[in-house]
Amino acid sequence: MKTKGLKKDKVNVVTLGCSKNLVDSEVMMTQLRGNNIDVTHESDKDDSNIIIVNTCGFIDNAKQESIDTILRYADAKMDGQIDKLYVTGCLSQRYKDDLEKEIPQVDAYFGTMELPLLLKKFKADYKHELVGERIITTANHYAYMKIAEGCDRPCSFCAIPLMRGKHVSRPIEELVKEAKNLARNGVKELLLIAQDSTYYGLDIYKKRNLADLLRNLSDVEGIEWIRLHYAFPTGFPEDILDVMAERDNICNYLDMPLQHGSTNMLKLMRRGTTREKQEALIERIREKVPGIALRTTLIAGHAGETEEDFQQMMDFVEKTRFDRLGVFPYSHEENTHAFSFKDDVPEEVKQERTDAVMELQTAISQELNEAKIGKSFKVLVDRKEGGYFIGRTEHDSPEVDNEVLIDATKQYARIGDFVQVEITDATEFDLYGTIE
Ligand code: SF4
Repeated sequence: MKTKGLKKDKVNVVTLGCSKNLVDSEVMMTQLRGNNIDVTHESDKDDSNIIIVNTCGFIDNAKQESIDTILRYADAKMDGQIDKLYVTGCLSQRYKDDLEKEIPQVDAYFGTMELPLLLKKFKADYKHELVGERIITTANHYAYMKIAEGCDRPCSFCAIPLMRGKHVSRPIEELVKEAKNLARNGVKELLLIAQDSTYYGLDIYKKRNLADLLRNLSDVEGIEWIRLHYAFPTGFPEDILDVMAERDNICNYLDMPLQHGSTNMLKLMRRGTTREKQEALIERIREKVPGIALRTTLIAGHAGETEEDFQQMMDFVEKTRFDRLGVFPYSHEENTHAFSFKDDVPEEVKQERTDAVMELQTAISQELNEAKIGKSFKVLVDRKEGGYFIGRTEHDSPEVDNEVLIDATKQYARIGDFVQVEITDATEFDLYGTIE
């Protein structure tokens, strides 16, 4: 790292947690650069003298990772390797007072909505004219787009509303402007994210307006894939399915965290739905958008979960055959509604149940992938690695879903290009193929 005070300031932003936090880091970097401040993202070059850690405060593991990262840079500061250390994001929003006491080496802590205050530390101003512009830290050909902030839902286990506040949708015009800027800079795939994307518009348009947003974004020239994440089952705006079916550049893909498959648990989790309603919704989605890939997220071992509830979740996973699935052990989070329950499922049982769901899903994923052998898919090439060009179909989101591997010793593909690929082999989470 640069030794103290010799060269012009350079900021290195380190992002932890989810894609929504990544967008916050990108917005922060855009504002810093807009104020002529040299900034980089997760650079491993030791040339930055100022570090900003954008933390995650969602569940225990994530909190621990954030604390470890802060401590690592606090040590670097004590060793004189960096001049300044700032911390922002969800952990800082949630535990600012404790962190200030426990890790005083940090120059300042900021909440999730305090970017203008952070900029002041650099004698910089928040530039409204930069709204809709964004430096992206992902590959140049895809970008996350945060369509709303915060959440109005009462899910028992979730601390996000404590850290991100109430749901606030961004106006369609602003999002279209951002999409045009991103497309101008080479972005072909937009990943729409929010805490609850299906709540979009209820605040500013007094109606669920995601379908309208999708149509407007779908009209943006150069955007070839639009992918929808973080849908919520209750009050699901089914008019988006018509837009998905009518527009080729909206991926036949839907990420909809459902959290559980037992009605008793869905009630305890305050999800406002039942197993039967979830199954009926999934059936309608698959009817209206044939071949759609469904991704979900589940929690195992929530306070109050019985063996019977767990068996119902296993049965739900077996019967629904999700294309993509993530499952996490329950984390007993203070100040959430569920914190008032007894955390009565032992940690090892939480992990056993998590592993059992994943084992079941792995077998399902293997079968679904094998059924793709001999079929042809449009693939977006993301990178080259280990002798392969690696890409994704419209059924796969970056970082979390399956990938398509093309033998780079035999064929060439340009990163950021779409290629047509015939699938020749499959494993539980990857496909192998040749360019047609
Ligand atoms: S929808 Fe529920 S789980 Fe998702 S962010 Fe909101 S409160 Fe948390």
